[in-house]
Amino acid sequence: MPELPEVQATVDYLRERVEGATIIHGHVAWARTVSPTDPTTFVQELSGATISSLFRRGKYVGMRLQSSKPLYLFTHLRMSGSLDVIPTEFEVARHDRVCLDLDSGKSIRFNDTRKFGRMTLCEDPADVVGHLGLEPLDSACTPDALTRVLSTKRGKIKPVLLDQTVIAGLGNIYVDEVLWKIKVHPLMPAASLTPEHIQKLHTAIRETLLEAIEKLGCDFGDGVVDGGMYKPRVYGREEKKCSRCRDTIVRIVVNQRGTHICPSCQPKPRVRRSSLRHKR
Ligand SMILES: [Zn+2]
Repeated sequence: MPELPEVQATVDYLRERVEGATIIHGHVAWARTVSPTDPTTFVQELSGATISSLFRRGKYVGMRLQSSKPLYLFTHLRMSGSLDVIPTEFEVARHDRVCLDLDSGKSIRFNDTRKFGRMTLCEDPADVVGHLGLEPLDSACTPDALTRVLSTKRGKIKPVLLDQTVIAGLGNIYVDEVLWKIKVHPLMPAASLTPEHIQKLHTAIRETLLEAIEKLGCDFGDGVVDGGMYKPRVYGREEKKCSRCRDTIVRIVVNQRGTHICPSCQPKPRVRRSSLRHKR
C-alpha cells in the first residue's frame, strides 16, 4: 500500500506531465471510485477544467483545478491504485476505473485492481483532507508539535503513528522503519516517550521519508510505484539479520498489523508495577 513517499513520487510524475493541461472529456468505469456525485456529474464538473497544480497532503494526491469555479480533485490510491499518463488513443485497460482525457493528447488513467481507491471532487479541500494531522515534512511539524499531539494520545506508539489524524502519510512500512531507527518497541505507550525519544523520532521520520522520496519510494511489485528503490531495514525482512546488531528480525502482530522489529535493538517495554497489580 502506497505511503507518503510513493504518493509523492506519483505527484511528481503527474506534475511533469499534466500541469497546465485542460480536461476535455472523462469516463468513469466503476461508479464507486468517484465521489461525492454520480459519475455523469463528476465528468461534467471536470470537463473544461484546467489543472493548475499538483500537490500532496498525507497519502492524498491533490489536483488544483480552475473551472468556472476553483475545484480540487483528491485521489487516494489505497491498496492498489495507480495514476498513469498515457496517449489518449491507448486502449482502456481492464482495471482502469477513471479516464480523464486532456487537450494535450494524453489521458490520465486511474487503474485500481482492488477498487478501494477513491477520487473525490470538492470546492473546499477541508472536506476531504481537513481531518488530517501534522504533515511530517512541513515546517510546522516540529518536535514540540509532535510532543503536543503524542501526549494527548492513549495507546501504543505504532497505532498512534499510523493514525492519520495525528500525523499524515505514515503507514505500516515507514512506521516500522522509523521505530527501528530510534530503537523503540512498537508497543511502547505513546504518552511515555521521553523528550529525547521525540527528538529522535522527529529526526527519524524526516530522514526516513526524505531518503525514501529520493529513491522514489518502495517498489512493492504491485505496479503502484515502478522502480522505487527504497530498501527497508526491517519491514518485510523477518528472519534476516538486523544491519545494526546482527540479531534476527522478527515479525509480530500489533493491532492486526504485521510488524517487523529487531528484538535486541527494540526491547519490549517493561510492564509497570501498577498494571501488574491490576492484573492480580
Ligand atoms: Zn538490531
